[in-house]
Amino acid sequence: MDWPTLRLPQRLQETVPSARALAYRIPMQTTFRGLTHREGVLIQGAAGWAEWSPFLEYGPAEAVTWWRAAAEAATLGLPEPRRSRVEVNCTVPALGPEEAYALVARSGCRTAKVKVAEPGQSFGEDRDRVEAVREALPDGQVRIDANGAWSVDEAVSHLADLASYELEYAEQPCGSTEELAELRRALARRGIEVPIAADESIRRSGDPERVVALEAADLAVIKVQPLGGVRACLELVERLGLPVVVSSAVETSVGIRAGVALAAALPELRYACGLNTVPLLATDVALSPLEATDGAIAVADLVLSEERLAQVAAPLDRQEAWQVRLEELDRHLAEEAA
Ligand SMILES: [Mg+2]
Repeated sequence: MDWPTLRLPQRLQETVPSARALAYRIPMQTTFRGLTHREGVLIQGAAGWAEWSPFLEYGPAEAVTWWRAAAEAATLGLPEPRRSRVEVNCTVPALGPEEAYALVARSGCRTAKVKVAEPGQSFGEDRDRVEAVREALPDGQVRIDANGAWSVDEAVSHLADLASYELEYAEQPCGSTEELAELRRALARRGIEVPIAADESIRRSGDPERVVALEAADLAVIKVQPLGGVRACLELVERLGLPVVVSSAVETSVGIRAGVALAAALPELRYACGLNTVPLLATDVALSPLEATDGAIAVADLVLSEERLAQVAAPLDRQEAWQVRLEELDRHLAEEAA
């Protein structure tokens, strides 16, 4: 294949021996968490393909757990599945109500996750979107994700308002683990029954177990790359003792495959997972992209298309930028080892 490959610095090479690394850049179908493109590195190791795609603003101290996840998939492969398909939600970005309704209706999913509290939007727009999604899924599940944007007072008032739509749960309504704990107490005092899911408090706080210690959430959102790989996630889920939702970091089918492997390997899986995000990308690298059919993703081996890989190769300046990130990560590993 005629692909520009990245050079893996020595310490990284030791973690993924004789692997080949390629940088990709894919336009987003809809702007999502401020992204117009998704970029990352695909690694072909002895055990298969792996993805390293920490968001651009993440420094090496954060990107190193993402690397551990990629190194695991490239060298050890993925654990044995306990189930053959994983039910997933569709994701509703900050769209108007008609578009939101149409997206959910054509998705085939029985669970929808609605993004709320997007910058520049009012709560009225959030409520209209949630209402439209509930109408599209009269017997299904509707969950929301505020990405930590609300204060405790705002969250109490907004969730009191949205509770009439019978939310399955609210994901990270407030920023900190302490605020989530305060919110849960406030909701209980007022008799408002909306379960709380922790996402950023699990993957970015550096202390996921604090969520349990403070009784800050009813369930945990688990993401493979930010938490250091499928096996690390299986251990974390056991330690947390909370029901979980496996979600993606908006990766290509390669990164999603690891999330599907985690969801398929968990002893218990009560909730639909947030792994149906390949449709958010304009294109993908797999022959059969890991997108939901009838609301679920089948657990199956992934075959990449050389033609598609060539199409998504990052332009030269972005190749160079990822080469720099690899060097920074390598230096970080050297400092950690010292
Ligand atoms: Mg989230």
